[in-house]
Amino acid sequence: MNKLKVGIIGGSGLGQSLLANSQGESYNPRTPFGRPSAPIICTQFEGVDVCIPARHGQGHRYSPSHVPYRANIFAMKMLGVTHIIASGAVGSLREDVHPGDLLIPDQAIDKTFKREGSFFGDGIVAHVEFDQPFCPQMQKLLFQAGQKLEGDVKVHEGGTYICMEGPQFSSRAESLLHRQWGGSVIGMTCMPEAKLAREAEICYGLVTLPTDYDCWKPKPANMEKRDLLKEIIGNMNTAAENAIKLIKSVVSIMPEKVDFNCACQSSLELGIWTDRTMISPATIRELEPLVGKYLGHSKRC
Ligand SMILES: [Zn+2]
Repeated sequence: MNKLKVGIIGGSGLGQSLLANSQGESYNPRTPFGRPSAPIICTQFEGVDVCIPARHGQGHRYSPSHVPYRANIFAMKMLGVTHIIASGAVGSLREDVHPGDLLIPDQAIDKTFKREGSFFGDGIVAHVEFDQPFCPQMQKLLFQAGQKLEGDVKVHEGGTYICMEGPQFSSRAESLLHRQWGGSVIGMTCMPEAKLAREAEICYGLVTLPTDYDCWKPKPANMEKRDLLKEIIGNMNTAAENAIKLIKSVVSIMPEKVDFNCACQSSLELGIWTDRTMISPATIRELEPLVGKYLGHSKRC
């Protein structure tokens, strides 16, 4: 029987808000891919076991290109995380997605090029399905929970997240191109996080926090840079408050609603392409949390 454990990945502010009034245990496991960005806090939240890593490290030290995504996801797998709710600030590429709203994407375009994007490749090769980059069940639960939020919170269901390398923002020509591609929002962090969660057979849902209209939309001519920044921070705070409400709400319904028969939970079943007899015991040992159920001692004969 699977035991629900939810990883909640967000900016450090979001994690701190969620951790307020709760005592947690801190874990900093060594993984084959190094240590996570910061010790992971595990506690109970709404009666559910949760683990909260800080994606950018303590004090926001890792840029989106330098976040140790593999160590973060591997560590959460070691800790028994079965589901992840991730969040991140984005720019809106759609007129109807206003800064301060929330958007739960169902598709992604990965434009990153500097990040290690797989646990596999040296001694063992795996190809997992990724036609639905975010867990459809998590997407539905997030949206359902969003509908029940009090106050005037607009939650958009579905949309395409474009993940760029950064750290600079887009040029205007790029921003216009992303709109032509059908992008809804643009951010820098959900890839390869979502890909690694799929390889780790963890259901991964994402809630995005639009803070501005990226740069495709001309800014009001009389607006000072300082005022613009103030507005972005204001939108960020509104969206973050709404995201925290949404995460609390979804976590509280998960024990009743989660179905472990989700395809994400067995994504590696047909995904390992390497001849089993050629995979070294050392590789299997190293990747045991990921592949043990298929290649562990009881599975090899
Ligand atoms: Zn799933």
